[in-house]
Amino acid sequence: MKLSFIALVIFLVFCFFLGFSVFGFMYDVACPKCNGTGQVWEKRYDFDTETWITGYWPCPTCGASGEVYLYSSVSYALLFFLGFVLCFLLSFALDYGVAALRLRQNPWVKDVKEMHSWFNPMYFVWLFHVNRKKWVKWTTALSLIATVSIVTAIAVPLTSYPLISTPIVGQDIFVGWLVGAALTIPFAFAWYQNYEDLSILA
Ligand SMILES: [Zn+2]
Repeated sequence: MKLSFIALVIFLVFCFFLGFSVFGFMYDVACPKCNGTGQVWEKRYDFDTETWITGYWPCPTCGASGEVYLYSSVSYALLFFLGFVLCFLLSFALDYGVAALRLRQNPWVKDVKEMHSWFNPMYFVWLFHVNRKKWVKWTTALSLIATVSIVTAIAVPLTSYPLISTPIVGQDIFVGWLVGAALTIPFAFAWYQNYEDLSILA
């Protein structure tokens, strides 16, 4: 079965439409800093009286409203999905460029009839020349693995920022990451299956 890009786009729009209708783009929770009261008990310098006053002050985290707005897991899923797709395409394009360049530098590869070892540094260059479909298959799989690793490595340090390190945000980011990664798999699948049609554009 061939997964066309049109079918993929319809599937993705349906998924995100459903997700946003159920979970929304953002949602509000009681501010974790002031527990929803809008005020914090602390010592601050009062410029009017020019003294230090310990007492209730407007909460800086929520702007005294008692609520903070958080991105829903669906928003994170969309963000992760776009990040994954961009990283995948860059990784694929880089692999393509490297293979094409190395083939030009090593034209003898074109005369090789058989090459087996995966560990042969020229194997993928050779495959690029003799069996483009198989090269696309493996490059798609390897780009997907590289993409998930790179985006995850970038996202993990971000979750340690104070405002978003609360468990509820961590959970939203994790679910968004999981959904984004899961949706990138059919994208990569469609990319591989439609690659020959796409290469007409190049
Ligand atoms: Zn607050």
